[in-house]
Amino acid sequence: MSGENISGENISGNQDELYQKRYGGDTYNTAYYLAQCAKSAIDVSYVTALGDDTISEDMISTFSTAGVNTDLIEKIPGAVPGLYAIQTDEHGERSFLYWRSEAPARQLFQTPQSETLKSELLKKDWLYFSGITLAILHSKGREAFFEFCQDFQAKGGKIAFDINYRPRLWVSKDEARSIIDKAYAISDLALPSYDDETLLFKVSSPQEAIDRITKLGAKEVALKNGAEEVYVHSHGETEKHDIIPANIVTDTTSAGDSFNAGYLYARLSGQDTPAAVKAGANLAKQVIAKAGAIVPVTPPTF
Ligand code: ADP
Repeated sequence: MSGENISGENISGNQDELYQKRYGGDTYNTAYYLAQCAKSAIDVSYVTALGDDTISEDMISTFSTAGVNTDLIEKIPGAVPGLYAIQTDEHGERSFLYWRSEAPARQLFQTPQSETLKSELLKKDWLYFSGITLAILHSKGREAFFEFCQDFQAKGGKIAFDINYRPRLWVSKDEARSIIDKAYAISDLALPSYDDETLLFKVSSPQEAIDRITKLGAKEVALKNGAEEVYVHSHGETEKHDIIPANIVTDTTSAGDSFNAGYLYARLSGQDTPAAVKAGANLAKQVIAKAGAIVPVTPPTF
């Protein structure tokens, strides 16, 4: 649920400054890839808030065409979507500019429609969110969200969480640490990346990161580490899974998001953790071979 929304990528590189419009964000990327894998076998709904403008409408129709259910997207009258620009320099290095302080997604769980949203969400089996979801929510909405998570789990719902730590979205590291640890504590499935764990928590090995997260209460943890091994902790044991380095690495944007989708797809389909790592790695490899966060993929098979 929720996240960044619309992005513009400079495609001209000249004075004309032509930008290409794309829609995305970490949690949407995962929803998109899960929907590509599961087709109609799993109902994938995306939760965010947008405005009632033409871009918001176009975004909703793009999501829906991709197979993501948009029924739970709130439309806030007068609001306009968050915006960011991706600029690529002559060495291929990407940099980001953000205009999202007023993004309507920040108001989630605080709007008059929140009660309806919560009662609809309670009917779902899994709720997936990230550190970006938590960072962008206003503090009252964040509190309401954590309260909702308790009700959701009390009704048998399961929670999946990816840290996706973005320092600029948080007031301080201390705030990020305490909120992110609250999310780990309630995670049925945590999908962190080792890079983010080292950046925020200064752990010095994948095993240390896994131990820290499981001690907080997370039940299953799959720790990603680029082309290095994925560590999976479940039922009190940690397994290591080799990743075969990709021959083609064009753009690693969305590697973690697509891995999460493949992993979730496998686990939600009743597969074991080694099969889930394979599915996640397979999807991520397809995604990093192509440019852009959202690309066409062939679903992994079990
Ligand atoms: P994030 O995008 O969250 O930083 P990572 O960079 O850790 O995530 O990558 C997520 C997953 O993507 C890895 O676990 C792996 O499966 C896949 N991946 C990333 N980089 C490579 C690579 N160079 N070769 C093969 N797989 C990769």
